[in-house]
Amino acid sequence: MGFDTKTLWMTLAISDLVFGLLMMLYAGPGESRGALRAWASAQLLKGLAIALIIAKSAFVHPWTFAGNLLYLAGHFLELLAFLSYAGLGHRLRGAALVFAGLAAAYLAGIAAQATAGAMAVLFSSCLFALYGLSAVALSASNRRRSPVQIMLVASNGLIALTALVRAGLAWSSHGWDPQSAALANQAMFLLGYVFSLCDGFCFLLLVKEDADRSLLRMATTDQLTGIANRAHFLDLAEDRRRLSLRSGQPVAVVMMDVDLFKRINDQFGHATGDEVLRRVGRVLREHLRDVDVCGRLGGEEFAMVLPGTSLAAALPVAERLRTALAEAAVDTGAGPARITVSMGIADLGGGRSLEQAMSEADGRLYRAKAEGRNRVVAVSETIPDRAGASLSPAL
Ligand code: GH3
Ligand code: MG
Ligand code: MG
Repeated sequence: MGFDTKTLWMTLAISDLVFGLLMMLYAGPGESRGALRAWASAQLLKGLAIALIIAKSAFVHPWTFAGNLLYLAGHFLELLAFLSYAGLGHRLRGAALVFAGLAAAYLAGIAAQATAGAMAVLFSSCLFALYGLSAVALSASNRRRSPVQIMLVASNGLIALTALVRAGLAWSSHGWDPQSAALANQAMFLLGYVFSLCDGFCFLLLVKEDADRSLLRMATTDQLTGIANRAHFLDLAEDRRRLSLRSGQPVAVVMMDVDLFKRINDQFGHATGDEVLRRVGRVLREHLRDVDVCGRLGGEEFAMVLPGTSLAAALPVAERLRTALAEAAVDTGAGPARITVSMGIADLGGGRSLEQAMSEADGRLYRAKAEGRNRVVAVSETIPDRAGASLSPAL
């Protein structure tokens, strides 16, 4: 069965134009969507180029090649979009030089009135280079790998290969007719068409993946400290509780509150207060293990869940945090803003719910406040020691 390559080109032009237009509308004028706008412009340019290629018999030499040149420019723009998406903005100049070289070679072919076969070899080789570079740029991306990204690398790589095979065919056949019904030529068009569609959808999905990720980050992370927000902390903590319960491991819960934080705000200003909170978030991230979870419950209140850690073992962990925070004073023009915290610890053993354990730890935290702040309380009945920690003799 043969395919009408002109019809394929026409449908490709229409889908490129529709894709480009819709993506342009979606990208809008914002600064942050440069890659998307470049990609949308590339589709519009390619759609226009294909329309010119289809209508090229209406032009005279050298304008018959205008569509092909515009098509290469569209792919170059798409390469720029991929580079920018992949965080490889510093490679833009190199890509521009490569494109200038390819365009110069193609223009030289036109100027020399090369045969149709030679022009097809030149055009397909340029496409091979641009698609190949797109595949390389996407695979060198420093973003997190996803199946969609791998698919996009694959489709660009396969289009590059298709272009290379087409260049080979054009090179080896005498009297090359780009619109010929030769099955191999049609198969190349069909494959190119399928991979181009795949390329378009994959990029759309990649942009969506990005948007999903940043939405998820915003919904789960506390903007100021970078640690989990209350809702996300509770989710993670419940997961840890269930896992530890299943494996019979102890789990400790620590509630923590910055001491006299209102005074820090009053004395040094709200910005310093914010910096203190950021510092607390950083110290927590640095000092806790990967399996531990911590979160900002609100204001200057934080909580931690330490899986595989008994109440007794959690006490030195909390003490280390308290000391690290005391050493992490924030420098201000009016002297250092010292950070002291009070903590209460409870354990999740005995089939206690997370809520119960947190409430118990909270009670102990308020005992720590009542007993003078800057200390850790792990039991309800306390025997204060000189280091500032309270521990029952039974532990
Ligand atoms: P205590 O030792 O008893 O906990 O005293 P405190 O001053 O820390 O507690 P209090 O609840 O009286 O004050 C908490 C303050 O934290 C009041 C509020 O304005 C401030 N605060 C809450 N959220 C933020 C924030 O995001 N940034 C800053 N800078 N301040 C905040
Ligand atoms: Mg406080
Ligand atoms: Mg508080």
